[in-house]
Amino acid sequence: MTMSPAPPAGPARTNGHVSHWYAADGLPAPRPALDGDLDVDVALVGGGYTALWTAYYLKKAEPALRIAVLEKEFAGFGASGRNGGWLTAALPGQFRRYAAAHGRPAAVAMQRAMFATVDEVVAVAAEEGIEADVRKDGELHVAVGAVQEQRMLAHLPELREEGWGEEDMLRLGPGELADRVRVAGARGALWTPHCARIHPARLVRGLAATVERLGVTVHEGTEVLDIRPGAAVCRGGTVSARHVLRATEGFTAGLRGQRRTWVPMNSSMIVTAPLDRAVRDEIGWHGAEVLGDGAHAYCYAQRTADDRIAIGGRGVPYRFGSHVDSRGETHTSTQRQLAELLGRLFPAAAGAPIDHAWSGVLGVPRDWCATVQYDPATGLGAAGGYVGHGVATANLAGRTLRDLVLGRDTELTRLPWVGRKVRGWEPEPLRWLGIRGLYVAYRAADRRESGGLGRTSLIAHAADLLGGR
Ligand SMILES: Cc1cc2nc3c(=O)[nH]c(=O)nc-3n(C[C@H](O)[C@H](O)[C@H](O)COP(=O)(O)OP(=O)(O)OC[C@H]3O[C@@H](n4cnc5c(N)ncnc54)[C@H](O)[C@@H]3O)c2cc1C
Repeated sequence: MTMSPAPPAGPARTNGHVSHWYAADGLPAPRPALDGDLDVDVALVGGGYTALWTAYYLKKAEPALRIAVLEKEFAGFGASGRNGGWLTAALPGQFRRYAAAHGRPAAVAMQRAMFATVDEVVAVAAEEGIEADVRKDGELHVAVGAVQEQRMLAHLPELREEGWGEEDMLRLGPGELADRVRVAGARGALWTPHCARIHPARLVRGLAATVERLGVTVHEGTEVLDIRPGAAVCRGGTVSARHVLRATEGFTAGLRGQRRTWVPMNSSMIVTAPLDRAVRDEIGWHGAEVLGDGAHAYCYAQRTADDRIAIGGRGVPYRFGSHVDSRGETHTSTQRQLAELLGRLFPAAAGAPIDHAWSGVLGVPRDWCATVQYDPATGLGAAGGYVGHGVATANLAGRTLRDLVLGRDTELTRLPWVGRKVRGWEPEPLRWLGIRGLYVAYRAADRRESGGLGRTSLIAHAADLLGGR
């Protein structure tokens, strides 16, 4: 049965309120804020995946360590409670090129570490009884149109060079893709097994409960005002600690002295109401593969455990002065763009009611490459800048920070992203002009390519060059 395309649905029933991922279970009950000075061994600033994984692995390795997590709002308020739920081993292009510049063994080691990280998260979630709708059905990169297909094919030798074997990726023709999911205009896809679909908020909520059970103290409603060797200065008191680790990703620009370290890049999502049986059958997406396209302003989607489609992309990519939204409110024009995209990719879902729209920030360094840093002399460390790939990467960062803090020389501490230094972003208004210009260019390039250009638009090449991507 073929259904005629319906106009995109109107604005979402709920806008913001952190994210849809809290709609069913509600926001977590607040944990006590810091009230007075505290002395611990390790202070973690932020309460997302990075901080919680670091706390988890440190406590497992050295149960006697006194560890405090200091979170301004609540654990999972940031991107960790708002993301698209791709627990993916794929690294962003710029990051892969950075690793490759250190030689093939370094690039392969980095990629292999990411493959293993997906399995590590799946295993720990099962071991610790974290129920986060985890299902490892892999990731589909769908080529929509001829130009995306050309780019996908051109990408394959690069991936092989970086250690992707036959078992790590499978090329699907249009028919094979349609057996898994029907995407309008698709010319085929690349499938990799190295990805799981997760429920973001349940993962972060479960992690917070797990580290508390292990003896980590989580202070919520506790804003860190300043980080210095030996101390995290908070509104409610000063936390003295031999090791102070910054895990604030997209919010880092709000900390003293960090305004230009990583820009807060915005990403927005919508989720449909649970889809009718007829619509689901028409789309045929019965597995839990996550799905993205090959556009320059790419999208990412998951089929949720309760049969909705959640789809995201860059709406308003960046706010002047590195400002961040508070609770995820999303502009109606962004909601409309995402609903139109949903209808273009899955015509049967066009017009499906949109239950929720929300946004969040992720951290982007000037060279678009993530990092883990630790200075044994000062005890200061940080991890982040994952450029939208932080769900799995934060786990690898957590294990790496554990080894660095404990003074261990391991395979993880020798990975090429450890200890790298990056220049800061340009001052405003250059930063705003540059980033907004970049995304205007990517959208123009996508329009030209889908309008029949027949090759990757020169506008996209120029934008990559100017943006340092
Ligand atoms: C809409 C969206 C979709 C995404 N989709 C994906 C995806 O599908 N797959 C993927 O791999 N990645 C995705 N990402 C990126 C990924 O979610 C993040 O990289 C990752 O969650 C970062 O975790 P984190 O712990 O480092 O930071 P966060 O989860 O952002 O946590 C930082 C915490 O620090 C707190 N904080 C800020 N300032 C202070 C302060 N001064 N004092 C104390 N606490 C402070 C914040 O409240 C926040 O809770 C997405 C991001 C967004 C926004």
